[in-house]
Amino acid sequence: MKIVRFSCGGPIAYGLLEGETIRIIDGTPYSSYTVGEAVFALDDIRLLEPAVPTKIVAVGLNYIDHAAEIGMEPHDEPIIFIKPVSTTIADGDAIVYPAMSSWIEYEAELAIVIKDITHQVSVEQAPAHILGYTCANDVTARDLQRKDGQWTRAKSFDTFAPIGPCIETDIDPNNLKIELRLNGEVMQSSNTSNMHFKPDYLVSFVSHIMTLCPGDIILTGTPPGVGPMQIDDEVEVEIEGIGMLRNKVITL
Ligand code: MG
Repeated sequence: MKIVRFSCGGPIAYGLLEGETIRIIDGTPYSSYTVGEAVFALDDIRLLEPAVPTKIVAVGLNYIDHAAEIGMEPHDEPIIFIKPVSTTIADGDAIVYPAMSSWIEYEAELAIVIKDITHQVSVEQAPAHILGYTCANDVTARDLQRKDGQWTRAKSFDTFAPIGPCIETDIDPNNLKIELRLNGEVMQSSNTSNMHFKPDYLVSFVSHIMTLCPGDIILTGTPPGVGPMQIDDEVEVEIEGIGMLRNKVITL
């Protein structure tokens, strides 16, 4: 099932993506809901961020092939950081190149969307607390990340967390092709099987640090091939079985 959040001029609604159409649901995917009768064409609506998190927890250096690329060993525990929720944008929205930076980079990532209140759960309990998975781009001001010595500014500019287009609820996250294209050219190509810490482990790990809430997002790290984006670039993150997230870089 592919869950979307959308606007068609009226109130914001959740729906089920079925090919090129969306069937509205009455309620939210975080509670009980019923599938409604109204159907909308994708062309007639605006897709919004599929989740509205209270926090975005991101994992650094989680792909074995990415760690090897930069000559590092994976950490023995996940290294995590937070992106503020003001970073989120939807499929089709613009990434704004911040004036403070002169080097921003893309990072294609699988995003976990949390289903309900999740507090100190085991790895075995974690799947029951995951609503599904979406595509994300952990946009990073690499020059500021190096300059500051910690990551808050570099990871936190408005528009630095594109997510979408939908939340796929029925998928095994541990063997999915993940690809990033910049202006049509493949820049990152890997498989989520190369993750060192798997999604269920990450949910359990983070839940022992902070209570996760419905809609919260965990970004699971990026594969090899990160690189810079320029103004006017178009960047696409595609994950097998989920869909494609497309955003353009602009300046204000
Ligand atoms: Mg990242």
